[in-house]
Amino acid sequence: MPSLIYSPHFAMGFPGLRFLHPFDSYRARRAYHELAKLYGLPRDGGSMDVDGLSLRGPEGPVSDPQLQLVHSAEYLQTLRRSWVVAMAIEVWPFAFTPNAFLRWCLVTPMRWAVAGTLLTAREALRTGLAFSLTGGFHHAKPNRGEGFCLFNDIAYAIMALRQEGLAQRVLYIDLDAHQGNGVCAVFLHDPSVKLFDIYNGDTYPFDEEWARQRLDVSCPLECGSDGPLYLGILERELPIFLDCHSPADLVIYNAGNDVVCGDRLGGLNLSPDDVLRRDTLVVSQVRQRGLPLAFLPSGGYTRDSYLLITRTVQAALAAEKG
Ligand SMILES: [Zn+2]
Repeated sequence: MPSLIYSPHFAMGFPGLRFLHPFDSYRARRAYHELAKLYGLPRDGGSMDVDGLSLRGPEGPVSDPQLQLVHSAEYLQTLRRSWVVAMAIEVWPFAFTPNAFLRWCLVTPMRWAVAGTLLTAREALRTGLAFSLTGGFHHAKPNRGEGFCLFNDIAYAIMALRQEGLAQRVLYIDLDAHQGNGVCAVFLHDPSVKLFDIYNGDTYPFDEEWARQRLDVSCPLECGSDGPLYLGILERELPIFLDCHSPADLVIYNAGNDVVCGDRLGGLNLSPDDVLRRDTLVVSQVRQRGLPLAFLPSGGYTRDSYLLITRTVQAALAAEKG
């Protein structure tokens, strides 16, 4: 029975943040409420098994000592300065905002999200397939937050599971429109985590050839690339990647839907149906091989980003039920 990971604590920001950054800070809640209607789940999350779905939520946010599995103590300390958070989130007025406010509306929800990602990975190991409705902060580096990412939840989950001896060989598939430079930074000298990345090569992150060099499969696309081109590359490359590096203990899928046409930051041109085909392809290819899959929604800057997530979850649950 697949797992769905949600907590009301995932809500980031405040009404009006949308005017400062294109991210929908209530996306997790919107996606959850859609799924709650479909599957008869309680409005505020919880822990229960209903209609072929295992609903779970993290018990609390991760602490600084926990985050030191990935991040330096010095970096974590600097988040007490508002300008550091403002730089990472790319919302410059936050530099002049009281830090307590930023902690409440951004930093603490992101700590909950990191805990949610670890829980998603754990649930994937338990049930075979788990979806988080937040997370996928693939730009955060050990000593620096950037690109709306303060903590690298992906690397944290991998390190925590490794420490517990639960997952040694991990495959990471990053199909967000932006290259996952933070994950590359954490595992720069650790080739045991295998990295697959299809991304817009003409947008942020710029001038980080070292990150692209770290990828095991690197597929940069031109700005404006469309669905047929994208899906053709994915259909060709993903099965080879999975076969080459199986067996693995866990697959983490960063499923940013900022690849969709009209997204303000992604710069690619997939239709909503292409996004669904992409996600369905990844889920089926991974599950056909009997590998546990943890899904993270990552980027997505259209008003309908939450609906793209719910469509993917719904389709994957239907496929699992057979
Ligand atoms: Zn992105």
